[in-house]
Amino acid sequence: MTSFLEMLNTHPLTTPQAALDDKLNRAWQKCLANYGFFIGAMPENLPDLTSANPTPGIKIFMGSMHGNLLVNEESALDPFFANGDRLIAVHAEDQNRIRDRRAQFAGSTDPAIHSQIQDNQAALNATQLALKLSKKYGRRLHILHMSTAEETDLLRHEKPAWMTAEVTPQHLLLNINDYEKLGSLLQMNPSIRSPHDNEVL
Ligand SMILES: [Zn+2]
Repeated sequence: MTSFLEMLNTHPLTTPQAALDDKLNRAWQKCLANYGFFIGAMPENLPDLTSANPTPGIKIFMGSMHGNLLVNEESALDPFFANGDRLIAVHAEDQNRIRDRRAQFAGSTDPAIHSQIQDNQAALNATQLALKLSKKYGRRLHILHMSTAEETDLLRHEKPAWMTAEVTPQHLLLNINDYEKLGSLLQMNPSIRSPHDNEVL
């Protein structure tokens, strides 16, 4: 491993320039690998994001996040895509769908239910929305930890040249059959999918 790009959901959050500077300063003193630090979108901090420097990009949590870092409605997301030209990297899960499904499965203690609550459709909804906004403004977009066959098919047919995506090892190597063995250790976001998703990814 020669390089890392750290996410911003740390304590404190990497949202204003001062927090970014603090991380850069500590990394400059101690770090032996190449480094970079994402900055985080919050409903109110668009001006900070356009001026932040240096950073590999803006991370937007469209779901799976509580409180300040969640930006999930199209009307709230639109200005982030419309302003500036920095790369936008998204955690693509539809928070409203997740909330509804969580209510539907309330009371269940089976760890495997996690993959049904944060399901493929939740991921697809958010990736579709991010793609739509990226095309609307020609804005550079990166889909972080893409996890489903549906998103893969969508990008295969509709990905513009300026858009990229990545897959994590766990979404290639683990699937819902592993809940039996691993239980709650397998709960993560985006959730672990089916063997079919492994194959397509
Ligand atoms: Zn994420």
